[in-house]
Amino acid sequence: MNTPTQLFIVPTPIGNLEDITFRAIRILKEVDFILAEDTRTSKNLLNHYGIEKKLISHHLFNEHKTIENIVERLKAGAVCALVSDAGTPAISDPGYMLVRACIQEGLVVECLPGPTAFIPALVNSGIPSDHFIFEGFLPHKKGRHTRLTALANEERTLVFYESPHRLVKTLTQFAEYFGEERRASVSRELTKIFEENVRGTLKELIAHFNTKPVKGEIVIVVAGKD
Ligand code: SAM
Repeated sequence: MNTPTQLFIVPTPIGNLEDITFRAIRILKEVDFILAEDTRTSKNLLNHYGIEKKLISHHLFNEHKTIENIVERLKAGAVCALVSDAGTPAISDPGYMLVRACIQEGLVVECLPGPTAFIPALVNSGIPSDHFIFEGFLPHKKGRHTRLTALANEERTLVFYESPHRLVKTLTQFAEYFGEERRASVSRELTKIFEENVRGTLKELIAHFNTKPVKGEIVIVVAGKD
């Protein structure tokens, strides 16, 4: 028999509330407590599915402090789930440090498969998805130039997270570093009412998004170097 899991990493919807698995809902109902990036956001989500469970705050700014206490509780026999505001925890969200600490202590960790924004964006892009690298958010200032320079010769498809107010600036920088004819795709508001997937060269995308203020959540997919 498998050793019972002590920490479940549970992906939650990135927009459409139907995008949660039966198993995720069962686990959230069964655990002793849920660690949440933002307890108010997760409370709304749990209410939607009729789940009543104790929520404990676990975010970027307190994870260093809370990990030791969580690990002790799990070692004493508790079972918990980690959720983030949207998508899969530990993917551009808190989670990695807790997973590492649990593994180091010999605790059993299990990540459920489920929603994450970069997979639908990659597949929707029509750009090769057999080999890709996930870059998440680029550094805003320090290290940005170094990262972009390193990526200019990358042959695998590149996937980035970006905020709407930086989109045009970032696309313009991509055009400078990768060339304006490089193919790319911008996925906005995935799974939501106003989902949009715009595909074209970087030059075309800059022209498209320069015409109106951009809102919502964004994934940028860029073809690798030919
Ligand atoms: N853990 C999440 C995941 O698994 O995708 C990512 C969390 S990260 C803090 C938030 C970023 O993910 C957003 O700024 C955006 O780049 C991307 N994102 C999340 N939801 C999205 C959506 N519905 N459509 C497009 N991008 C989304």
